[in-house]
Amino acid sequence: MNSSISSEGPAPRHRLHPGYGHPITRIWQEEARLHVDQLVYPLFITDAVNAQEEIGAMPGQYRWGVDRLEAALRPLVRKGLRAVLLFGVPSNGKDGRASCADAANSPVVQAVGVLKAAFPDLLIICDICLCAYTDHGHCCIFREDGSMDNAASIERLAEISVSYVRAGAHMVAPSDMMDGRVGAIKRALCEARLDHAPVMSYSAKFASCFYGPFRDAAHSAPAFGDRRAYQLPAGARRLALRAIERDVEEGADFVMVKPAGPYLDLIRDARDRVHVPVAAYHVSGEYAMLLHAAQAGAFDLKTAVLEALTGIRRAGADIIITYFAPQLLDWLQAEEGSGKPAVDRTES
Ligand SMILES: [Zn+2]
Repeated sequence: MNSSISSEGPAPRHRLHPGYGHPITRIWQEEARLHVDQLVYPLFITDAVNAQEEIGAMPGQYRWGVDRLEAALRPLVRKGLRAVLLFGVPSNGKDGRASCADAANSPVVQAVGVLKAAFPDLLIICDICLCAYTDHGHCCIFREDGSMDNAASIERLAEISVSYVRAGAHMVAPSDMMDGRVGAIKRALCEARLDHAPVMSYSAKFASCFYGPFRDAAHSAPAFGDRRAYQLPAGARRLALRAIERDVEEGADFVMVKPAGPYLDLIRDARDRVHVPVAAYHVSGEYAMLLHAAQAGAFDLKTAVLEALTGIRRAGADIIITYFAPQLLDWLQAEEGSGKPAVDRTES
């Protein structure tokens, strides 16, 4: 029996209700709140002309043709969208070295130019990986004997990073999980006199089934095998911390934990251990899970998304990459205007 409860009710020092009884005191209790400035919206860019292809596994998300981007983003930027993360989805030209990743006609290179011209204040982050551009769909280059060539892979990742920054990207985000790629990219940017561009490293990227819908979106499923040779095993907290600390030592300006919800402990570990901002990627499977559950009547979508993402903030994320960014722009602006807490946690 709880010793603080007497027949007169809880002892005064154990009464918490008075501290959050007013709408404003409820807000004051929330050290972790969502704000639109923390959101990054991932975008899939195809080289198909005039395309707006809905992604089957991610209802409400599209592969955009470069010529449709400005019209698609204009209303979001007007509502306060500050940052996007670009993924290229080329329809041809894939080879063993991901040559089409940074060709002049690559969808990402073209999209950077269009977005910079249309939205000068929008932060443009380019995902850096090989898997969307290789004929085998892996994030690396292979030697002739089929083994992973880490040195050749990071050299190519650095080349692509330089091309994207030269095209105007503000930031590059390597997602490949090769060893030493943050250092290689930082050195290459420095040598090319492009070291104004920061690097956001996908540092703790786990081999996750929650990426399934993304691979449909980016047409990046591996043709053979899986990615366990370079992505982290789900139970490996210490290994993830080594990856995070190593990337910071190599010069990462931002680190990332991916996926977010199943790895909240790593977000907190990163927040406590390193002194760079921590991003969390609320991935395609997490998006699909909330969307489908809400459509099945399990809960209200807005309430569930706000609670899930507030949890990611509370775990310690400074930046949240999420496919719900468009809805959040509306939801968060409305809540800020109303003075009510973003999530009503009263369980009826
Ligand atoms: Zn990849």
